Amino acid sequence: MNKAKAGEKTGYRPLCIYGRIFVNFFKVIPLTAAVYVVSNVLSGLFPAFTTVVLAALFDEAFNLTQGAGDMQQVLACGLVYLIAYVLYRFWGFAAGIIADIGMDKNQVNYRYILAAKLAHLPYIDFENAEIKNMHQRAEECLYGGTMGRVISCSFSIVILCVTNLVSVSAVLARYSLWFLPLCVISVLPYLIARLIRGREFYYIKRKQAKKTRRLSYLWNLFTDKRTVKELRTMGADDYIFKQWTACRDEVQEELWAQNRKDAVSILICDAIRLIGYGACIAMSLALAVRGTVSVGVFGACIAAFMTLQSATRNILELGGELPKDLAFANDYFTFIDLPEETNGDAPYTGLREKIEIKNISFRYPNTEAYALKNVSLEIYKGEKIAVLGENGSGKTTLTKLLLGLYPPSEGAILYDGADVNGLDKTQFHKTVSAVAQSFVRYNLPLRENIAISDVQRLYEDDAIINALESAGLETLPAAVALDTELGTSFGGDEISGGQWQKIAIARGLFRDSQLIVLDEPTSALDPLVETEILSKFIELAKDKTAVIISHRVGLCRLVDKIVVMKDGEIVEVGSHGELIRRGGEYARLFTAQEKWYR
Ligand code: ADP
Repeated sequence: MNKAKAGEKTGYRPLCIYGRIFVNFFKVIPLTAAVYVVSNVLSGLFPAFTTVVLAALFDEAFNLTQGAGDMQQVLACGLVYLIAYVLYRFWGFAAGIIADIGMDKNQVNYRYILAAKLAHLPYIDFENAEIKNMHQRAEECLYGGTMGRVISCSFSIVILCVTNLVSVSAVLARYSLWFLPLCVISVLPYLIARLIRGREFYYIKRKQAKKTRRLSYLWNLFTDKRTVKELRTMGADDYIFKQWTACRDEVQEELWAQNRKDAVSILICDAIRLIGYGACIAMSLALAVRGTVSVGVFGACIAAFMTLQSATRNILELGGELPKDLAFANDYFTFIDLPEETNGDAPYTGLREKIEIKNISFRYPNTEAYALKNVSLEIYKGEKIAVLGENGSGKTTLTKLLLGLYPPSEGAILYDGADVNGLDKTQFHKTVSAVAQSFVRYNLPLRENIAISDVQRLYEDDAIINALESAGLETLPAAVALDTELGTSFGGDEISGGQWQKIAIARGLFRDSQLIVLDEPTSALDPLVETEILSKFIELAKDKTAVIISHRVGLCRLVDKIVVMKDGEIVEVGSHGELIRRGGEYARLFTAQEKWYR
């Protein structure tokens, strides 16, 4: 168990967090907030109102029985009470509905803020396990309905204080001041238990963030169609199921152990509360025996003590929950306060001359090893470049930096002399297109699968068909038309893996971009088919600058420049002929793969 205070490591700012929750409450749902405040004030005042009106009613009724009362006064009091009661109930009913809807809206707004945050985080943050854990903890805060609870707890504490504590304490104190400390001491353990158990619960959840992510990862493995296929054929489903069960049991066992500790704490608190109650009876009895109070007041003292004890207990328990909830809310706001992707202010309309990669090095977050070391390269407008190298040599990382998705740890990437990270990203991204190895299979109509890269042209059927044909997809199943939904998630048509790959390439081609990066989207196809598709692609992309990543040499005769990477460094640059003559890494790869292309 981590003994640090709740939220300490992330800069726990309870008052600031408390303020932000309330500011959001009044800003996002002002009407509900107003209704909520009025409702709480009414429910605080109504018991006092009831007492006053009913007392007047009973007095008048009693006078009436003595022949001195006024029937009209009785009826007036009764009517006032009845009308007030009906209005109060009606208001309570309507306010309850408004509050429920408002609180839902408030919760949805917090989710919206979280979604917007995810959309604006720097892309590199998605490589960072610690940021993913922070995201999980922010989700944990929302799942638990923390923000709504902080608000309702705070109002309940105030109302309980006003209605019960003040009024009942005043009555009890008239007979003996000792009732008050006795009451507080007998229920104080509830506060201590809530504070301690709440802090433990928070730290268990905080520690479990990684495990919870792992649980959902394992769950997805045996619910996703593509992974299920591999699990079944490799006989790994049982293993993954056992992993999931073990992880779930571990998570649950920690929570159950916490629940057991909580139950023991409550038992001890209840015992102390009962001792306090017993002491109250003894004190009241002593007062009655001494004649300080009458027998009637003796009974009233015990009833008042019970009411006071129960209200104090509620207040202390609610108050004891607040630090835990504020710690969860702190996690949410810490995530929301993470720095966002910065958008440069340098305007960009497209490449005029060249891209210069100047001495860049790059390390992934939380890793020691460099994925790229001192890489320098020039790419001229309209050039077709093949980046070659074995797995793990840094090809994908280089293209991510080239596209401005990751900032280099050292060095710079200049587009016509301007640092890519200083460019206006919205303008810049309009000029580039990329097809990744792990492309997305959108379970959407074929048309959208292509035009999602340029939605303004969603209904340009000729252009869509053109892109499909250019990507080598002349032969879709007969039934598949542009509006046919693909993928089986929502009952669409399934197509082959190779066809999905070609659709991804068509999507990249469809986008009217100046620079296009293909990161081995054809790697699953046979080498000859791959070369055929890529040569067609190069022909089509004649006006574009293209960077094509591959670990196969098939396309290398077709490009202007070949870049060979090894262990994060560029080891060779040149044309096919130059590199063969040099007899280095490229010549070695070419000789090893030559047989595939005969
Ligand atoms: P390639 O595309 O040539 O197969 P990559 O660019 O994917 O190579 O990877 C280059 C190096 O960076 C490898 O050593 C790989 O282990 C490392 N790497 C890739 N992605 C990550 C990541 N998300 N976190 C840490 N290291 C990574």
